[in-house]
Amino acid sequence: MSIKPLYPLPHPSSMKITLLYPPFCPPTVPPHSITYLASYLKTNSPEMQIKCLDLNAKFHRLRFPELYQRLVKARENITPYSEMLEKYSSGAKKVHRENNFRMYGGEKPELFRELLELILEDKPDVVGLSLVYNSQIFFSLALIEELSSRGIKCVAGGPAVSKFVEEKVTVMKDEAELLKFLTGNEKAEKTYALDFSHYPVEDYLSKEMIYPIRSSYGCCHKACAFCTHHDNVPYKEIDLDDIKDTILKNRIKNLFFIDDTIPANRLSELAAMLKPLGVNWWCQTRPTSDLLGNFGELRKGGLTSISFGIESGNQRILDSMGKGTNVGEIKKVLAESHQAGIKNIIFIMFGFPGETEETFYDTMNFLRDNRENIVIVSASIFGLQKGSRVYQNADKFGVFDIKENDTPLGETITYSVKQGLSEIELKKLKESVARELREMNKLPKIFALLKEQSLFF
Ligand code: SF4
Repeated sequence: MSIKPLYPLPHPSSMKITLLYPPFCPPTVPPHSITYLASYLKTNSPEMQIKCLDLNAKFHRLRFPELYQRLVKARENITPYSEMLEKYSSGAKKVHRENNFRMYGGEKPELFRELLELILEDKPDVVGLSLVYNSQIFFSLALIEELSSRGIKCVAGGPAVSKFVEEKVTVMKDEAELLKFLTGNEKAEKTYALDFSHYPVEDYLSKEMIYPIRSSYGCCHKACAFCTHHDNVPYKEIDLDDIKDTILKNRIKNLFFIDDTIPANRLSELAAMLKPLGVNWWCQTRPTSDLLGNFGELRKGGLTSISFGIESGNQRILDSMGKGTNVGEIKKVLAESHQAGIKNIIFIMFGFPGETEETFYDTMNFLRDNRENIVIVSASIFGLQKGSRVYQNADKFGVFDIKENDTPLGETITYSVKQGLSEIELKKLKESVARELREMNKLPKIFALLKEQSLFF
């Protein structure tokens, strides 16, 4: 759908816009996407009235009041706390599934009226929906239908916007496009001064508030053949003073960096800036050798837990992926980080095209040899992403017979490989080691899902 001019939207000086974060995803942290959009709009159109509404957190607080009560008593010790989060996870999975099914059948979800009231009470002219996860699609569609029928202009954006959303609303590529749509203004100042005061602490199922912060745009590596996360956005670091201001203004004590990867030199700069602020933080990065020798300082700077994109314990697979890492160096990185007192959470990706039984077990043996230095193993299976290097050069990676299917929850892609493990063989192998992988975890398994919670225990 093309971007239409503003009329009949009111002039920005009297315009009310509500930025929404729809259900369903975990209600443990406030959203970054709409908070950032709000700060960008506010800087470039100060007269506009902007509200951020985390409807996802509101839904969960209304739907699971007993868990929020339990949080009060459970927050001090890891066992009751992780049990409370497990209870959330299993209960929410069922509730999300049932509600998505209901909406797929044309019915409204639970608590729809109550949540709608929260939107309508501010009488917005425009509602902007941010879709980060596929699991937010059905609720967004239900809201768009209802709000549009009441004459409220809806727009949407985010990585989970599917064809089904595009058919219903104007989709914005980024913050600049949204500003232009609302004000006609093409010249804008980029800003990073987030205001998290929109979000009441009581709405979050977390021991203490943990805030999402960005330290850069894009990815400095951009070479992993399976990945489309970086969206080919040019890598640009955010000014350290702007990040510091956001932390101070919001009195942040716990944060996680949402960047896909932060290079070693930048991590050192961030740690130096954060050290006097007494902040605990989590981030993710590639396990590269230039991190060696830095972990002591990073720990002193508040780095509490870190996720490494390790993917494989086999060098041929790592090279084929374009990870730019080395198995021997990864080992040293894990050992040094662990010795510095940092919790290592690692991502493994089984089944990259060309994976054989031998390379699969190289990864398992790598994990067995290094388990003392790891607190959580998060293992997934390779999925072909449209636009990734594997997708674009399928033949080179031995991938063929690619089939794409549109579903309301996004696109699914199937494929075959010329060499290596088939999908069925891979699933069988993974199942055969599932228990062993679980037993490697030193934190309760819910922390693999809610990684930022590893900041607390
Ligand atoms: S996986 Fe991470 S490091 Fe690799 S290209 Fe994607 S965003 Fe960058």
